[in-house]
Amino acid sequence: MSDLPIVRPTHPPLDAFSFRFNHALKTGQVTNGGEYVEQFEAALRHELGVPTLAFSSGQAALMTMLAAAGIVEGDEVICPAFTFVATPAAIAWAGGLPVFADIDPRTLSLDPRDVRRRISPRTKAILAVDPYGICCEYNALTTLAHEHGIKLLIDSAAAFGSTYQSQQTGGFGDAQIFSFHATKAFSTMEGGALCSRYPLIIERAAQIRNFGQDDEGGCAIPGINGKMMEVCALVGLEQLEGWSETRTRRKSNAALLHHELTRAAVPGVSIPRAPAGVDPIWLYRPIVISAPIFGKTRDEVAAGMQDRGVMVRKYYSPPCHWMRAFQPSHALPATEITSLGVLALPVYNDMTMAEATRIADTLKEVQCA
Ligand SMILES: *Cc1c(COP(=O)(O)O)cnc(C)c1O
Repeated sequence: MSDLPIVRPTHPPLDAFSFRFNHALKTGQVTNGGEYVEQFEAALRHELGVPTLAFSSGQAALMTMLAAAGIVEGDEVICPAFTFVATPAAIAWAGGLPVFADIDPRTLSLDPRDVRRRISPRTKAILAVDPYGICCEYNALTTLAHEHGIKLLIDSAAAFGSTYQSQQTGGFGDAQIFSFHATKAFSTMEGGALCSRYPLIIERAAQIRNFGQDDEGGCAIPGINGKMMEVCALVGLEQLEGWSETRTRRKSNAALLHHELTRAAVPGVSIPRAPAGVDPIWLYRPIVISAPIFGKTRDEVAAGMQDRGVMVRKYYSPPCHWMRAFQPSHALPATEITSLGVLALPVYNDMTMAEATRIADTLKEVQCA
């Protein structure tokens, strides 16, 4: 029996776009906003219903979003510590200071009540995260941001294809970004996007993506090179063709895994659910191990799963506020306890029933071992 990898990317065959890729190679227009990037952006706008720019990576989109929202040296930006390090790293690169807020252990995302406590006169924005593609509390955070005159930015790197109150992600907050990295549910190999309903953010982001240059060759905001390549846009256009079916299949695969985990009913394993009104794409299926009840630590469970050929990850552990790159932080009790017990199980676009059953059965086996 072969191992179950932590991710199993699905990509279109080269044949599907080789003619157009060859055209790009022949004309020499392989990047810098060529026709395929333009087509891909138009398709994304159509899919999401909000102005969208394509990027070379999710991280480039994230750094751009912060700068486009006006984050400058010394600004405080509130974010979770229960996230991929990319989130606070982007704040630091924009010159901002990440101020970590705790999560609600039930939703695994920012607890709006703790965010409120962290707001200071230097706070410029909240950078919320949709962990594993689970939309965070958009409504409560939007209200909070409005009340305090600060921006709500959302790192939805993992949440392309998730819905919040039946609405696709993309148009929430002041701006939202996605990652199209090969490990994500929707992949252009490397890639990302930034969405915003605010023309000023889109305009600034378009400049920042291109070194900060404006149409006259001047530069008002120092930028980066965040441009998507034509070949990535071609892959993205192909992915979009089958996306609505892929998305439905992935969500039902995650539901299958959830069902199998529930059926296995392993003591000491809690299976966080998506909050009401949130239909995540499930980049992974997180579970939380309670060592005293399970009878093994999370690290032992992870090792036991891998030994049996089921690749898992300790996302997100350690929490970012314990990383040396960032300033020492106040304690975050819910984040710390969740980080200590969390285990991310694989979900694939093309997961089979047998694979979902194997994951749940392996967890049970590890407990009995
Ligand atoms: C994947 C991810 C990123 C980075 O995206 P890349 O496309 O790999 O640059 C940022 N934030 C979060 C939460 C992610 O999951």
